[in-house]
Amino acid sequence: MSRKGILIVVSGFSGSGKGTLMKELLSRYPDAYALSVSATTRAPREGEQHGREYFFISKDEFEKMIAKGELIEYAKYVENYYGTPREYVEKKLEEGKDVILEIEIQGALKVKKAFPDTLLLFVTPPSAAELKERLVGRGTETMDVIRSRMDRACEEAEGMDSYDYLIVNDDLVTCVKEMHEIIQGEHHRSFRNKAFMKEIKEDLERLKGLKGED
Ligand code: ADP
Ligand code: 5GP
Repeated sequence: MSRKGILIVVSGFSGSGKGTLMKELLSRYPDAYALSVSATTRAPREGEQHGREYFFISKDEFEKMIAKGELIEYAKYVENYYGTPREYVEKKLEEGKDVILEIEIQGALKVKKAFPDTLLLFVTPPSAAELKERLVGRGTETMDVIRSRMDRACEEAEGMDSYDYLIVNDDLVTCVKEMHEIIQGEHHRSFRNKAFMKEIKEDLERLKGLKGED
């Protein structure tokens, strides 16, 4: 049975561990998944590389990509633009890979509207206190930015029930395993296997008509 790639959106509060989870998932199952690299107007954090974590571009370049229809979706998040380049996603899905977009909730809902078969996963830390600890512990933002991100988390929490699955990132290894199992299980949903069902129905009809052969 040929397998079609699933478009997967992973969202979650800033600091919930999405980036860490994605790295682990890709290193454990490198052949199963393709991670889309977004474009953003925010400045790179220490250790981030252009083309690896993000394509770091200017506001002008970002607006040109919007105008040319080169983004599947885009959104503004705490003063910066973030968007998903179309070409890579379409190519990898055609190759049969499951493509993961790690994007915030406004973008997630736009993707779901444009591609209704998208699987929506929401990552949360085990508690709000742990979220704050992780944001502070990461040490990449000022306290002001951390406050904005905690405010944004309150808004995003309102949208959690639009997602198909909630994934609690307590122990990292357990969480990666759960995420992989959810996605693999998703491949068995009947609506994702219409071509197979059609083929087996046709074959059953054909075989029913053949006489004398067991
Ligand atoms: P996000 O991409 O969601 O903003 P990160 O992946 O940058 O979050 O993780 C935020 C911080 O939390 C990082 O310092 C990371 O090392 C830490 N972290 C991620 N997952 C876990 C986990 N399961 N347990 C403890 N700390 C974690
Ligand atoms: P960060 O600045 O922490 O890397 O990302 C901030 C937020 O932007 C995160 O919630 C992340 O998931 C989201 N994000 C990253 N790329 C995209 C994108 O292409 N589109 C949208 N809508 N959100 C994105």
